[in-house]
Amino acid sequence: MTPGSGNFAGGTLVCHCADRPVKVSVTGDVAHNHACGCTKCWKPDGATFSVVGVVPRASLSVSEQNDKLAVVDVNAAIQRHACKECGVHLYGRIENEGHPFHGLDFIHTELFEEDGAAAPGFAAFVSSIIESGVDPAEMEGVRARLKELGLEPYDCLNPPLMDAIAAHAYKQKHVA
Ligand SMILES: [Zn+2]
Ligand SMILES: [Zn+2]
Repeated sequence: MTPGSGNFAGGTLVCHCADRPVKVSVTGDVAHNHACGCTKCWKPDGATFSVVGVVPRASLSVSEQNDKLAVVDVNAAIQRHACKECGVHLYGRIENEGHPFHGLDFIHTELFEEDGAAAPGFAAFVSSIIESGVDPAEMEGVRARLKELGLEPYDCLNPPLMDAIAAHAYKQKHVA
């Protein structure tokens, strides 16, 4: 795991196609980067965790081969735009304006051509890796390894993000 440079200016996300790869340009660094154990995020073959963070949607634009992108599941809260040929998810976007994370796009920093994006800071949805086939008996070792890597394991999101979701829910109920 490479630590972030702390001043990553953005870069280009590239899918895995050798021919006409999809390219997405991002201006600025990624926030809340983390390892994710859910079954929806894209991860390379053989990986147990995805690495995913967010950028403001205004800072992201498809620069090449937009025609190769399609939404994986139009009913999901996060619309994951994936390359139809190689299957890599280039970005996830929330169209529901009432969603706590509306305005943020989800991206996978490992797809950047450039080095230096913020490194993952925690691990989310750790228990969910069992849904992908990991033996529950292995979980203690998995969590110990994540801690060793400095990635505090959580079974949902980390406290700052869970707090943000709860604060959003409170506002929706109590602010006209
Ligand atoms: Zn591709
Ligand atoms: Zn995920």
